[in-house]
Amino acid sequence: MYNTETQTQGTITFKDYPLLEWIQKAINDLGYQHPTPIQQQTIPLLLEKDTDIIALAQTGTGKTAAFSIPMLHKINPEIKHPQALIIAPTRELCVQIANDIKNLSKYKPEIHTVAVYGGANIETQINALKKGCQIIAATPGRLVDLIDRRAVDLSDIKILILDEADEMLNMGFKDDIDYIIDQTFDNKQTWLFSATMPPEVARIAKNYMNHPVEINVGNKNAAAPNIEHIYYVISSNKHRYLALKRIIDYYPDIFGIIFCRTKADTQKIADQLIKDGYSADALHGDLSQAQRDFVMKRFRNHQIQLLVATDVAARGIDIDNITHVINYDLPDDLEVYTHRSGRTARAGKSGISIAIVTPSESKKIKDLERFTKAKFHRSLIPTGIQVCEKQLLYLVERIKNTSVDESAIQDYLPAVFESLKDLSKEELIKKLVWEEFNRFYTYYQNAPDINNLKDVDVSSHRQTQRYFINLGEMDGFNWRSLKDFISDETGIPVTNIKNTDVKKTFSFFEISSTDTDKLSSLAGKSFNNRIISIEKSNKEKQGGHKKTEYSSDKFSHKKKEFFKNSFEEGNKKEKRKRIYK
Ligand code: AMP
Repeated sequence: MYNTETQTQGTITFKDYPLLEWIQKAINDLGYQHPTPIQQQTIPLLLEKDTDIIALAQTGTGKTAAFSIPMLHKINPEIKHPQALIIAPTRELCVQIANDIKNLSKYKPEIHTVAVYGGANIETQINALKKGCQIIAATPGRLVDLIDRRAVDLSDIKILILDEADEMLNMGFKDDIDYIIDQTFDNKQTWLFSATMPPEVARIAKNYMNHPVEINVGNKNAAAPNIEHIYYVISSNKHRYLALKRIIDYYPDIFGIIFCRTKADTQKIADQLIKDGYSADALHGDLSQAQRDFVMKRFRNHQIQLLVATDVAARGIDIDNITHVINYDLPDDLEVYTHRSGRTARAGKSGISIAIVTPSESKKIKDLERFTKAKFHRSLIPTGIQVCEKQLLYLVERIKNTSVDESAIQDYLPAVFESLKDLSKEELIKKLVWEEFNRFYTYYQNAPDINNLKDVDVSSHRQTQRYFINLGEMDGFNWRSLKDFISDETGIPVTNIKNTDVKKTFSFFEISSTDTDKLSSLAGKSFNNRIISIEKSNKEKQGGHKKTEYSSDKFSHKKKEFFKNSFEEGNKKEKRKRIYK
């Protein structure tokens, strides 16, 4: 274990490191000020000495810069010959790493980085290598191919980096990695990065590394600390898809990955979601590389909200804003869960990892808790009415925040006003909201409870309390940053702050009754020139069925009346954006 104590992120800056000026400038351009914990451990160590390291770090912790910065510092830009080689499991990760390195070396145009990976034209890659480069980022299979064609010379490699080593071994690249390492000289440094430490990774360390310094920024197999782990127990397997839809509907602004075990399931679920009107697509190995690239591009650009993926296809996905990871079914291998959940909560953000399990599968949760050293909270699948409430609030917020392009509609407005002139403001609002909302209500009003409630011990469910706080979007918060803010100010772990609903000027959140004392450190403080006010939401939210009553109380009181009036008055013509069957 590297002994220098990691300072809290925030006290130390990159300027404290004796890095070359052009690297400092590029880091500054990227907006990085403080090194992340893994960077605090690798950068000063590797600047000071040449050594092998084994770094246990999750994706999203800043590990790419943790190896790229010292690597760039150490290579000689004047020599146009491969000096550093990074091996990573997937094409996506390779491209990402090469891009990150290009950004960090932008003030040193002499430095060339070439990415080589399967599924792309090998001749183009051979030509790029021929032009000369100092750094190569490669997937194992393609690199072996290039070595066999004598298209790449690894004899001068001074730094060998194995990124996501556990993933590479899981994917069956063991022989390729052994072969590649054999092509490099012994006097290089090897830096191995892995999220977990299965025996196969330990074997590589033992066989090929020289007294490696072990760096660990968390527990060996631990999931990232800012992930909230939730599981839902369905009463029967046939409710799995229904539960998935409820969960998605309950988080209207979800941007997430749904993991399935097989390619066939992945395609089936994606097709079903698309048919039901969701913004989703599939990513799995039966698609061509061009199709996979297309899906990834659309997901990256938020053109699709839900990516349904197999584990293999989703490896190396490096997208910062993923809010939820959903395990449509749990993987057999506990490590795979860590990788799946690590796709959210990246770059210091928080995220939610969800598992849908049957009663027999729920036994696995204990193993997962032990393995990830994280607490998994059981939640109840939202009832139809809870989904409706959430969607209605979301709709109202959307209407409130919509910016209208008046020029596009002004020609029609006189006729519209004329036609609606006899309606009061209240009637008009009701009709507009209902027009948009009725398909949810129609679908969900008689939706059955699909929870397995047999084993829910209401008394053992932790009591929670819902709070109102006078901070909201106006103050720059979203649900994640509000959680982080409350956690920072009160010391309540971010994963214990739940069901955050952020509105324009106020928000709601839930915490365990045992944490309520800690809130006193926040109330009365000043924020944006306002005194922070926190109030108990007057309706008690408890364990069991009632626990997941998430709506604002004000709305709950009005709910019945609203639905009733709207139903009577509403235009029942369906504008089917989503089809509920
Ligand atoms: P990685 O773990 O390398 O995939 O990095 C996750 C994300 O963190 C990427 O979007 C990086 O750009 C970002 N990042 C890396 N280092 C820092 C830093 N010191 N400060 C802020 N963001 C960073």
